[in-house]
Amino acid sequence: MNAPELSIVLPCYNESGNIPLLIKLLQETVEPLKLSYEIIVTDDCSKDNSWELLKDMTAKDSRIRAQRFGKNCGLSAALWAGIQSARGKIIVTMDSDLQNDPRELPKLLAPLDKYDCVCGSRVASRSKGDNFVRVASSRIANWVRNKLSDEDVSDAACSYRAFKRECVTNLKFFKGMHRFMATLVKMEGFSVVEVDISTNPRHAGKANYGVWNRVFIAFHDLLAVRWMKKRMFPIRVVERIN
Ligand code: UDP
Ligand code: MG
Repeated sequence: MNAPELSIVLPCYNESGNIPLLIKLLQETVEPLKLSYEIIVTDDCSKDNSWELLKDMTAKDSRIRAQRFGKNCGLSAALWAGIQSARGKIIVTMDSDLQNDPRELPKLLAPLDKYDCVCGSRVASRSKGDNFVRVASSRIANWVRNKLSDEDVSDAACSYRAFKRECVTNLKFFKGMHRFMATLVKMEGFSVVEVDISTNPRHAGKANYGVWNRVFIAFHDLLAVRWMKKRMFPIRVVERIN
């Protein structure tokens, strides 16, 4: 199979109640765009029947590809493994629980004619899909993140993004990196824009990340990214002889 134009990357941990509907909606959205595509699902060692379901779906449609971790590695790792196996010129990442709306995909693709990376922002809609504590903690986390890393990203942890594949060629994987994608991509010299997206309540299954199981780790990562951002700079050789 030739490399498709678009790769859609889905991280999946116990999402058997969501994956079939998500993939159906994605296919209904992408088909009118007349883009060749693949959908890559990374099963992060689910305990439900996600993998059996994926085996069945991949057998029926070769545009659906699946891979499975031998142990649970977390969202960043599942996203990264999907990105690594993506073959498209454009890569889209999103959650698999239908909190991100697959029908909004064209909205994320549109700015790619002017920008290298488009990041979804749930700031305007978040109160519809999440409870008060999660909305408030996300606001605070984004404020601290922006303050310490000299950024202006309104919703750094949103995984709904579309980007040109070269944006991620030189990135290094670390656990939790999905929260810093916009900053890391900018550090590579690429242009990044945010677009407002909707947030829905989880369709099925239960949330894996609460407020407290991410805040301290994320803060530790933030200090590393802050350091990196201060110390890294693009080297431009202006003349070369011999
Ligand atoms: N996820 C994953 N591995 C994990 C936990 C979550 O791949 O160990 C996936 C999950 O299936 C979903 C996405 O990461 O597609 C976001 O997870 P979740 O909805 O639980 O996070 P929240 O929306 O609560 O922040
Ligand atoms: Mg979710």
